[in-house]
Amino acid sequence: MKLDGILPFARQLVASALSPGDLAVDATIGNGHDTLFLAKLVGESGIVYGFDIQNEAIANTTKRLLNDNLLERVTLFHKGHEQLRNNIPEDHHGKIKAAIFNLGYLPGGNKSIVTTPVTTISAIEQLLEIMAPEGIIVLVIYHGHEEGALERDILLPFVKQIDQKAAHVLQYQFINQQNSPPFIIAIEKR
Ligand code: SAM
Repeated sequence: MKLDGILPFARQLVASALSPGDLAVDATIGNGHDTLFLAKLVGESGIVYGFDIQNEAIANTTKRLLNDNLLERVTLFHKGHEQLRNNIPEDHHGKIKAAIFNLGYLPGGNKSIVTTPVTTISAIEQLLEIMAPEGIIVLVIYHGHEEGALERDILLPFVKQIDQKAAHVLQYQFINQQNSPPFIIAIEKR
């Protein structure tokens, strides 16, 4: 297939926004795959801020980063992403170039702990305030489970009403696949 799959496209978008020395956010670190990807992109002089509400996610991500000797460039918060503005140092506000949200539950973890639209929307609003112009937020939405479908139904109307003078909003989705495959919303701050 020549078309990018959902996860490769999500990573391509994030990579297009980041250079060595940049600041990035992983809003749902989970098992740390995206955190590690961001840590490599920002290089030695960059910083990744990562958030998750589960101990297991902090432990798994810490282990993954240690394995690659990249923990130093990552600051992990055992807190919800709805608290990101108050936790990212003020002198870094206006400088964040990319953020990723992989929504839903922790793979291999407790499936009843999921992201929720209220906190996701709050975090997006905060990021739109504290990101750099042309900063990109990528949301990967898994709507094949009940809470995911609900999250989709609340998130889509929210992102569609973001003023086009404030941000470009894109949806990337395979529309002929079965079983509700994940899709992407990308938001580029203007
Ligand atoms: N990106 C991860 C990876 O590479 O493994 C997968 C993330 S997983 C699909 C979603 C994660 O969101 C779970 O670990 C869950 O604990 C976390 N989560 C749920 N609510 C959250 C919140 N309010 N703030 C931050 N993380 C949250």
